[in-house]
Amino acid sequence: MNSQAQRTDTESNREDGDNLDIYNYEDRERLIKPRNNFASYSENVDVRFRSTIDNNITYGGTEAILGYSRRLNTGNIIPGATNFLSTNYESLDYDPCENYLLQDEERKKGYKFVVKKNFARWFIFLLIGICTALIACFIDISIEELSSLKYSWLKKYVDKCAIEGCIWVPYMIWLVLNVVPVLIGAILVSYIEPVAAGSGIPQVKCYLNGVKIPRVVRIKTLAVKTIGVICTVVGGLAGGKEGPMIHSGAIVAAGISQGKSTTFKKDLKIFKYFREDHEKRDFVSGGAASGVSAAFGAPIGGVLFSIEEGTSFFNQSLTWRTFFASMITTFTLNVVLSAYHGRLGDLSYPGLLNLGKFESIPYQIYEIPLFMIMGTFGGLFGALWNHINYKITCFRLRFVRQKWLKVIEALLVAILSATMGSLMIYFINDCKPLGNDPTKFPVQMYCAEGQYSAVASLWFQTPESSVRSLFHDPKGSHNDITLAVFVILYFFLAAATFGLSMSSGLFIPSLLIGSAWGRLIGSALSRICPDSEVLDPGKYALLGAAAQLGGVVRMTISLTAILIEATQGISFGLPVIIVLIMAKWGIYDIHTQMAGIPLLPWESPPLSNNIYASEIMSHPIVALKTVENVGHIVELLKCVTFNGFPVVDPPSSDQTEINSYGRFRGLILRSQLIVLLKNKVFNEYAESWEKPLSIEMFRNEYPRYPTIEQVAITDEEKTYTIDLRHFMNPSPYTIQHSATLPRTFRLFRALGLRHIPVVNDTNEVIGIITRKDVARFRIWKHQGRMGLDELLITNK
Ligand code: ATP
Repeated sequence: MNSQAQRTDTESNREDGDNLDIYNYEDRERLIKPRNNFASYSENVDVRFRSTIDNNITYGGTEAILGYSRRLNTGNIIPGATNFLSTNYESLDYDPCENYLLQDEERKKGYKFVVKKNFARWFIFLLIGICTALIACFIDISIEELSSLKYSWLKKYVDKCAIEGCIWVPYMIWLVLNVVPVLIGAILVSYIEPVAAGSGIPQVKCYLNGVKIPRVVRIKTLAVKTIGVICTVVGGLAGGKEGPMIHSGAIVAAGISQGKSTTFKKDLKIFKYFREDHEKRDFVSGGAASGVSAAFGAPIGGVLFSIEEGTSFFNQSLTWRTFFASMITTFTLNVVLSAYHGRLGDLSYPGLLNLGKFESIPYQIYEIPLFMIMGTFGGLFGALWNHINYKITCFRLRFVRQKWLKVIEALLVAILSATMGSLMIYFINDCKPLGNDPTKFPVQMYCAEGQYSAVASLWFQTPESSVRSLFHDPKGSHNDITLAVFVILYFFLAAATFGLSMSSGLFIPSLLIGSAWGRLIGSALSRICPDSEVLDPGKYALLGAAAQLGGVVRMTISLTAILIEATQGISFGLPVIIVLIMAKWGIYDIHTQMAGIPLLPWESPPLSNNIYASEIMSHPIVALKTVENVGHIVELLKCVTFNGFPVVDPPSSDQTEINSYGRFRGLILRSQLIVLLKNKVFNEYAESWEKPLSIEMFRNEYPRYPTIEQVAITDEEKTYTIDLRHFMNPSPYTIQHSATLPRTFRLFRALGLRHIPVVNDTNEVIGIITRKDVARFRIWKHQGRMGLDELLITNK
């Protein structure tokens, strides 16, 4: 049906008082405070992007859709833009729908069910802990074995060819050993599951925030992520396996807690009562914490990470369970890895990242300003790194769009990594006596007998081992020139690597860059005061690492705990936190904004108290009657894309025009309507229902609901009716039209809502607000002036 025809249809519907209840907001203007003129809203406020209204667009066919289309921008978004929100990301609904079916279930099952559910929760957290650890062990052992093989070959050929003059042979071998794994990883990510690219931390953050990133917690994503991260590290890219562990933990949690796999079409028929967004979110936060715990051996850091991302919904019992899962993870991992390394008795492998233990790190009070300066450096370097990565990402968005190009790009970076390493090893002559050498494969290269090349040792091991060397090697083990060149090369290499179509994290590369420049500072300081015992380069390497990482990812609390736990150096907590606070602000936010993900920040934009719900809401609305015609629902769902519909009592014919909205009764979701249609819960069939309706009907379909096109309804059934009152949410959070933006924002943020119907003074619904409608308001800095923007909403 074309839009013109649809509109005429709608108008005629309204004329005979039938079907679509679309209420004309303009008629009611006197009930609602008129929208402010944004330009005069404050002298200091620069409101841009007001031109989001595109009148040429006819989207769908009803007036409500036209109302939406005024916001929807279909024009081109410049690659790299951060001033838009994408309609590709739907919201999750963290507000449980407490309809009559749910109440029925609780009433029937009683306290026994409550105890069972609670027990099941703890059991699932236990499973999450164990499974996350096992995946981490698989990744670690695979990387360890393959890397050993790779670097022992390389060492053999380098040492042989340095004597025989065939140095290009090990270079070619290095190239092949980098390119093959990277090729596998890039093909997997580009062609099979693109959402497995990167570390997955931004995606997990978004999930906890309430945004549904398509396919983010699927089993296929986990498989690609696991193999992909092994390929990244074995392929010698400047990426780590730690970030992806957080994503893997989240997927494990989402999978186990649902007791079914939609991918494998297998339903174990257990844990059905956890099949809803807000229960699943709690498990995912536990899984993310387990991921951190597995990655860094930092259970407290893990819990803090989840709390930092999920403060709005965390409570004491969830914290306990999360902590339990994290502890189980680190313990399981420790047992398996210690057994693998033949030291089961020691239990000395609490995490994948083993930064070695700092026995004691003394510091003097006069060093604190130095720490602050290092933190500032970290902030600046981090910001520079983020900027370079942002520019590279813009380039990628513009030019590297096809899948095969993404694979080629990853291969080029793999070649670049091997080439940079080879050139450094070839040109920098940095020989150290054998004995102190921390690397497994000391390469002699052009050094004298009994010596090894310190440059080669930086490259011929996993980046994590290099960080360990920089932290713990004694004074003078590293040449300043080597470190300086290494920092510069690795800085650019890491910036080019993050954002490739590969699964890889940026914790390790950032730690490596930071520990290298930190060690440089430490070695310069100990040159100035050669007798000082306190100025240990290893200590400065640790602070540099913290500063660089803090500067790039801009997390403070959890990162401090992670670093303290990973280095077992609690006495050094204050310096680490000083450095991190000085370095704050983040790369994940940049990537999230570039993707147009409607993330809600912690607080509403400042100075927004004079924006009212009536100005934010969409109007007119598409509402449904409490007892609704099936054919109408089907046509409506085909015609509009909205995900929530207010349910109202139809206005009675003797009501005056001013009261004709109809009383607000509840809210029903698109997914619920589809399930009702699919199960043919029509009043006319009520006699023939075999068993009473139950909430399981919805849980069986969760989370991948069919589309309306997949539901078959006969012409006769279209004349039937559904009573929505049993299934709708009868008491959703609503807001008065006169509420301010900060108040509306707080409801969305704190309660994880997806829709809020807006009501007038007589509880009649006059509009609807979704998360995206609120996320659109952002504070923006432009040429030194601060202002409030309304971001574009685009379907690009
Ligand atoms: P999500 O996809 O996460 O639900 P969204 O904002 O894209 O978020 P939609 O339900 O697709 O949600 O709504 C798109 C726009 O239409 C929003 O601006 C919203 O305010 C408006 N809208 C939503 N439901 C209705 C409705 N029943 N009647 C009129 N407008 C609506």
